[in-house]
Amino acid sequence: MMDETVAMMRELTEAPGIPGYEEPVRQVMRRYLEPLGEIMTDNLGGIAARKVGQMGGPKIMIGSHMDEIGFMVTRITDAGFLKFQTLGGWWEQVMLAQRVEVYTRTGPVIGVTGSKPPHIIPLEERKKPIDKKDMFIDIGATSRAEAEAWGVRPGDPVVPICPFTPMHNEKLLMAKAWDNRLGCALAIETLRQLQGQAHPNIVDAVGTVQEEVGLRGAGTMANVLMPDIGLILETGIAGDMPGVTPDEAECKLGQGPVVLLYDSTMIPHVGLRNLVIDTAADENIPIQFDRMSGGGTDAGRVHIFRAGVPSLVIGSPVRYIHTHAGIVHRDDFDLTVKLLVAVIKRLDAETVQQLHR
Ligand SMILES: [Zn+2]
Repeated sequence: MMDETVAMMRELTEAPGIPGYEEPVRQVMRRYLEPLGEIMTDNLGGIAARKVGQMGGPKIMIGSHMDEIGFMVTRITDAGFLKFQTLGGWWEQVMLAQRVEVYTRTGPVIGVTGSKPPHIIPLEERKKPIDKKDMFIDIGATSRAEAEAWGVRPGDPVVPICPFTPMHNEKLLMAKAWDNRLGCALAIETLRQLQGQAHPNIVDAVGTVQEEVGLRGAGTMANVLMPDIGLILETGIAGDMPGVTPDEAECKLGQGPVVLLYDSTMIPHVGLRNLVIDTAADENIPIQFDRMSGGGTDAGRVHIFRAGVPSLVIGSPVRYIHTHAGIVHRDDFDLTVKLLVAVIKRLDAETVQQLHR
């Protein structure tokens, strides 16, 4: 059984959109956002829908990046294999023997990141992951000319393949690109739930570009939207799996929204953080805390925009981000939307003015 929200999640996660090549995701975003507010864009591919609850009210940015990590073709070898540049943070261990699609100007070409069978690798060599620079993509071409005839050329984006799949427990949803189509889905669903409801502000549901290569599109969208408050919607790092200690990551699937206490690009605004925690308590929404000493979020750019924008990162826990197959829990998603709606309703002019002091 697939409800409307799950259908939207399927479309968002299956859209191919690596940094700088977000167009297919933007098209999905646009289709869902258009009925919900006035569409605004930046010049790099960012998109937002603005819903005015109160004219002249504070502007609340609920944002998420549209790009996922992927690869770009840099060279076709004489034998027809593709060498590539990674876009975003890849770990070698999760890169080999994975299906990918090369998006050429004439359509997608399927491939796989090639790997040697263990039978021919010396024991010592088998102990360490192979270097990214030694990897290649096999599209089944026998020569450079053949690959070119299929439309492949340097600069083409290469995107992981993982069909959206509800698991045996249908509340668990497996897909690629939950980082950060989860945030895109949260932004859309929150704006949808605000339709026909009173809120004392202006809400911008945003999709930014090029977060995975250095938070680049968040600054350009902030310039378009001029936010007073930034709620960045992101993936929390689930730690509920063998081998992960609570000191590394303590969020669990199905245990509620995640508030990020720290990342390497932002200390959250204390007043805003407390407002969110208090709102969750009042609404009986359980919350979890996360911190990320390595890695940043779009909030890193938004909170230092102009004179400063009080910001906080909120999201739902995800297992296995930055791999082909991530897992989220539907209950976390629904509770995160509920929390966002409740927080937005509290952000009136006076409250925001107090946060700005
Ligand atoms: Zn990421």
